[in-house]
Amino acid sequence: MLAENLISPQIEIIPCKVCGDKSSGVHYGVITCEGCKGFFRRSQSSVVNYQCPRNKQCVVDRVNRNRCQYCRLQKCLKLGMSRDGELSTVLLLL
Ligand SMILES: [Zn+2]
Ligand SMILES: [Zn+2]
Repeated sequence: MLAENLISPQIEIIPCKVCGDKSSGVHYGVITCEGCKGFFRRSQSSVVNYQCPRNKQCVVDRVNRNRCQYCRLQKCLKLGMSRDGELSTVLLLL
């Protein structure tokens, strides 16, 4: 019996913690997609002053994530994303 034939390598797809899209790994300390990674990087690299046009309770998911940058960033921060996260992730992998 060749039991190993039953075990095929499967890459587990973990959804982005911020928007639920397909994640691409740990970014800034949180499992996120490329979109949220880039969004967070932009939010940290320049002087940003996002405003929520509604009541700061916008739904942040794959479809709506671009609607409100304020709420998206708040969700990133709430999940623990930080600029230092990228560094510590790199150190963990070394
Ligand atoms: Zn995302
Ligand atoms: Zn909002």
